[in-house]
Amino acid sequence: MKNRAILPPIAVSSRRDFLKTASLGLGATLATPVVSRAASWQPAPEADDKLGVALVGLGNYATNQLAPALAHTRHCRLAGIVTGTPAKADAWAEKYAIPRTHIYNYQTFDRLAENEDIDIVYVVLPNAMHAEYTIRAAQAGKHVICEKPMAVTSQECEAMIAACDEAGVKLGIGYRLHFEPHNREAMRLGQEQVFGAVKVIEASFGFRLRNPNQWRLDKALSGGGALVDVGIYAIQAARYVTGEEPLSVTAQAIKTDPVMYKEVDETIFWQLEFPSGAVSNSTTSYAAYVERLYATCEQGWFELGPAYSYSGIQGRTSKGTMDFPQVVQQAAHMDDFADCIRTDRVFSASGQEGLRDVKIIEAIYEAVETGGKVSLV
Ligand code: NAD
Repeated sequence: MKNRAILPPIAVSSRRDFLKTASLGLGATLATPVVSRAASWQPAPEADDKLGVALVGLGNYATNQLAPALAHTRHCRLAGIVTGTPAKADAWAEKYAIPRTHIYNYQTFDRLAENEDIDIVYVVLPNAMHAEYTIRAAQAGKHVICEKPMAVTSQECEAMIAACDEAGVKLGIGYRLHFEPHNREAMRLGQEQVFGAVKVIEASFGFRLRNPNQWRLDKALSGGGALVDVGIYAIQAARYVTGEEPLSVTAQAIKTDPVMYKEVDETIFWQLEFPSGAVSNSTTSYAAYVERLYATCEQGWFELGPAYSYSGIQGRTSKGTMDFPQVVQQAAHMDDFADCIRTDRVFSASGQEGLRDVKIIEAIYEAVETGGKVSLV
């Protein structure tokens, strides 16, 4: 029954083990510096064998999270960029000392194939562009990390997996929480049934979307609303706490602002049933902030809140407070991907993982539409 595949093979069983492993410098991910030390921490001198990463799409996440996180990686370095905006190219070239030969736009993208300094292409574009640029990167012979949601349809996800398999390159999805200690502890507590079998999960993620002029509200670019943007974290959480694939889903949608949310979902509630009998109930929303992961088990409970943020994640169990360090999640994620490339290991946040979530998203929309229970098997 237990599917341990989504608990990455760098299990952190306790804070003591975590720190021991980190202090011994074992494991690419765990050796990533913790945020609490960031102020005094200086990036290690650049090693010749660091893998070169090219960021594609220099928007908010690439600018404010990934580029700074790259300075905290041990096995990656920012080697190139792809942008359609010349002013951004100039600013990034200066700030990160990126040579002009390593700067591309969407027309010259395929020339990445000729650049041996770039090993990994990281796609950080609007969701509907993920499939095209992941496939083109694979065809250029580059390993690919693609942001979540993997794509806007499961057919696209399958085409992305096939393109990467055909090219012999690795495909990872931007599931940074696979490398966050509190979320890893939630995986362990649930999957190893530390408090007995998981019975009920409440996993929810939503925020107040304020800017009405953005691609997230344009279905052609986003593929959906709050569900595909942040609800996906709650789907992931229910799956990685149980270690199981859901059997069926029911769902309900509410729209309080039909003008702003003309094209995409605003708030969705859904319920998943798992083979062990565990059930999850989730909320996602662009109208209100909600962020928690709670699991009640046969003999206790555990919870994270905040659960999915870039930092500040906290956890408690029926036995006490969780005590884990804060890490630079994106650095840990990219370092583990690089380690998977070097050691030819399977990346836990794989294309198959991304595909499973997109299939569940499709089933949730179908359940909203039909009002019935949609089977996932
Ligand atoms: P953003 O709008 O800030 O950036 C998108 C970038 O794509 C911009 O630089 C924009 O110029 C570029 N772009 C290229 N072609 C475009 C087009 N036709 N229309 C609009 N923009 C175009 O968005 P973001 O918040 O950085 O999100 C980018 C991706 O990263 C999304 O898939 C999102 O889901 C994902 N993301 C992941 C996380 C995470 O924690 N893993 C966090 C935020 C965003």
